[in-house]
Amino acid sequence: MKTEPRGEDASRLRQKKFSLVRVLKLPEDALPGSLALCHRRCGRPTCHCAKEKGHPIWMLTYMLDGKKRVERIPDEWVEEVQRRVDAGRQFRDAVTEVFNANAQLLVLLRRQTM
Ligand SMILES: [Zn+2]
Repeated sequence: MKTEPRGEDASRLRQKKFSLVRVLKLPEDALPGSLALCHRRCGRPTCHCAKEKGHPIWMLTYMLDGKKRVERIPDEWVEEVQRRVDAGRQFRDAVTEVFNANAQLLVLLRRQTM
């Protein structure tokens, strides 16, 4: 049984996949979700925010066990948390691309063996 599809598409897909796999290293401090700047009113009627859109705060939103979680991130953590969120997204994107390439290679192999 042949286990590798042939042809130009297959070699392009394999090249893409191997270059991704080579650089793919699990970022051990990666974070899920996304970081966003929100505005919250503090609720004190005399605060200036009562007439404006609220105090700016950073929130990390992510899914855990199928539930949406939101965590407030202190200003001085924002740069580091953003870096960890970006690392997580890049890793996930690369894994998805490898899986997609493998699925396309499987389809090419099926066509050859029909
Ligand atoms: Zn306020």
